[in-house]
Amino acid sequence: MCGIFGVSTHRDAARLTYLGLYALQHRGEESAGIVVQRGKKVHYHKGMGLVGDVFTEGDIKSLKGDMAVGHVRYSTTGSSSTKNIQPFFVTHKKGYIAIAHNGNLVNTYALRNELEHKGSIFSTSMDSEIIAHLLARTKAKKIEESLAESLSEIEGAYAVVLMIDNLLIGARDPYGWRPLCIGKLNGAYVLASETCALDLIQATYIRDIEPGEIVIIDKDKLKSIRISTSSFFPTAEHAYCIFEYIYFARPDSNIFGHNVYSVRKALGKQLAKECPADADLVMPIPDSGNYAALGYSEETKIPYEVGMIRNHYIGRTFIQPSQFIRDFRVKVKLNPIKDVLKNKRVAIIEDSIVRGTTSRIRVKTLREAGAKKIHMRISCPPLCYPCFYGIDFPTKKELIASAHSIKWIRDFIGADSLEYLSLDGMLKSMPLPKKSFCTACFTGNYPTEPPKKIGKSVLE
Ligand code: AMP
Repeated sequence: MCGIFGVSTHRDAARLTYLGLYALQHRGEESAGIVVQRGKKVHYHKGMGLVGDVFTEGDIKSLKGDMAVGHVRYSTTGSSSTKNIQPFFVTHKKGYIAIAHNGNLVNTYALRNELEHKGSIFSTSMDSEIIAHLLARTKAKKIEESLAESLSEIEGAYAVVLMIDNLLIGARDPYGWRPLCIGKLNGAYVLASETCALDLIQATYIRDIEPGEIVIIDKDKLKSIRISTSSFFPTAEHAYCIFEYIYFARPDSNIFGHNVYSVRKALGKQLAKECPADADLVMPIPDSGNYAALGYSEETKIPYEVGMIRNHYIGRTFIQPSQFIRDFRVKVKLNPIKDVLKNKRVAIIEDSIVRGTTSRIRVKTLREAGAKKIHMRISCPPLCYPCFYGIDFPTKKELIASAHSIKWIRDFIGADSLEYLSLDGMLKSMPLPKKSFCTACFTGNYPTEPPKKIGKSVLE
């Protein structure tokens, strides 16, 4: 879970990147960083926290340059600490490399082991650092060859934006788990995880980077190499992350060629067909259930109501009140509207259940607010398997649906009824054929072998 952004040939490259990261903030709230290049000089600024907290006006002004890459991070591999803030930046004998990576590699342990045996020293615990080592070690003379050779060694999910000397580079792994698109702003090329970042800076969307494609941008020229059809990679089926559509991407973005909002609404409509509820009103758990709830309400003709209000101004920390306010952390985020809920049979729509702990608290809050019946409907199937490709799902043990029946989960969260969208129904609601998607978190059918930790599968 990360957001990546890059811009080439624009005199305000750092400011555009700052704005791009602002739009991509939902993809990672832990840390943010920008690296800029001007002539032969490179500058960077990174920090822990939200984009708006990490950068001051002075920081942006001091990041002078006409090419930049940026990153917002949510750690999936590597701990959450300052040494792991991206973009990762190194100099080596041929120049410098800056990397912003979204996704998880699955052959990290083997590659890192091998590189360390050959004398490589790692300064972070991120899998992304491996890409820099491979690029620095390659004997290939041309950048095209060195990129194709290095990327052919890594397996798993990567959408990357790189700055290597005078070039801005974008690439997606052959399966295409994570999104990455190309835009243009006047003469400048822009690369971004999601189109909402292009919208904010008024760049025009050109196209997605294809799975298995590397684009090399040299000022106003863009060159594309199709690594999936080269000798370096076997031809792969696509494995777009279906969870990007369900929860992760912003609804105003288009990813994998289609609008996220429309997909979430379609999921809600399908959910209504499969799992109707005897209810007076339909409401979402804000904000993750908003769009599926709209679809559910439209399909069932049950009125849509906003039964809980979200406070959007919660920072990372706040001063805790004294003990007498129970469940303060939860209450400060969402507050029920008692007048809407009192004596009502409520169909509450959520995008997914992960551990079940927040859903349990939400149901309790609705009951306390006077709801008579609570029917919970989930716009995806039960999440049973961990993700190795960049979504931060906990271990199998912590995923409530991996060990428990739906009835058990219903009782745990305290709802009167609980139903999930079927796998078929979810796939039917997608704007692309079902073979385009990775659904491993629901089915356990991983498109690659799960990562091995010193010969042992992490699933064991
Ligand atoms: P819970 O009821 O505790 O399982 O929380 C469910 C909420 O967490 C839903 O709104 C999910 O969309 C959201 N969620 C989605 N993905 C994740 C994730 N990787 N880690 C934690 N929460 C997530």
